[in-house]
This record gives sequence, C-alpha cells and structure tokens, in this order.
Amino acid sequence: MTIAYIGLGANLGNARETVERALLAIDALPASRLKAQSSLFRSAPIDSTGDDYVNAVAQIDTSLTALALLTQLQQIELAFGRERPYPNAPRTLDLDVLLFGSEQHQTATLTVPHPRLTQRAFTLIPLLQLDALIAIPGYGPAHTYVDGVAGQVIQKM
Ligand code: ADP
Ligand code: MG
Repeated sequence: MTIAYIGLGANLGNARETVERALLAIDALPASRLKAQSSLFRSAPIDSTGDDYVNAVAQIDTSLTALALLTQLQQIELAFGRERPYPNAPRTLDLDVLLFGSEQHQTATLTVPHPRLTQRAFTLIPLLQLDALIAIPGYGPAHTYVDGVAGQVIQKM
C-alpha cells in the first residue's frame, strides 16, 4: 500500500458540493481508501478566470500504481463533466496527484511530486494540515515552502 495525496479544485457551479462529492468518489476508488481529508479552502483563481476556487487535499491508502491512480482520477473528472477547452480554463473539477509515497515520476503524462505543489498555497497549506512534518521527495520538508506562498490568500471554509 502507498500513501498518496490528491489535490482537489473546483470553480464552476456549486464548487463546494463538487469537492465534497469528489471526496466520496475518491473513497470509492478501486484498491484504495480515503484516510483523511483536509478542510475545504476558498482561493482566488491564479492564471485563470471565473469564480473563486474551492480546494482540498485528500490522503489515501492505495495499491494502485501512480499512473493507474491518475487514470482513475481523470475518469472522476470526466464523470463530473470536466472539459478542457483551453489551458487553465475554469473547471468543474480538477484532481491532481500531489504525492505518491516516496515515488518520483517525470513523464509526459505524470509528474510526481506535482511540480506546483510547493508554489501554491491551496495545495501546500491543506497538505500541511494533514501532515505538518511531511517531506516532499526531491524538495525536502513541505513547511519550508510556506513563506514562499504567504502572499496568496486562502480562506478556510
Ligand atoms: P492542471 O495542470 O491545471 O491540473 P490539467 O488538469 O488539465 O491541468 O492536467 C493536464 C495534464 O497534466 C493531464 O493530462 C495529466 O496527464 C498531466 N499531469 C502530469 N502530472 C500530473 C499530476 N501529478 N496530476 C495530475 N495530472 C498530471
Ligand atoms: Mg489537473
């Protein structure tokens, strides 16, 4: 079993409800179990448009591979009506693999740890809420990146 962290984001329609339902869908993934979920946070769009985002991070136990997990998450995105009209378009639901145990991947389809994990308050802060002392493979302790995102306003819901 591997402990993996998934970033959830939504900013179309009822974003809060979407994130809550997506957490249930994550708990129902094959060969996986939802272990913990962060608080829900509200954040303004970065390099994007539309309403504020609702974000959260989920911690799962899984015996899927990282790539199989990504495929499963993309199926959940599709089930929630996700379209990709253009890069960073507003989205009903975005599910990213933030961390997958101690694994590091760098392929066309999958980069893990997620390359923007340490640069975005909306992923870093919920991650630290779940594990304040977590280390990010290739980056070091996650908490050392907090100062770098201090200018980004996120609000606990
Ligand atoms: P965003 O970067 O805003 O999350 P998308 O959700 O549209 O954009 O993702 C685009 C592509 O990113 C996907 O097709 C997927 O293959 C790739 N990708 C690479 N690494 C990851 C990861 N760790 N988690 C999710 N998607 C990833
Ligand atoms: Mg994504």
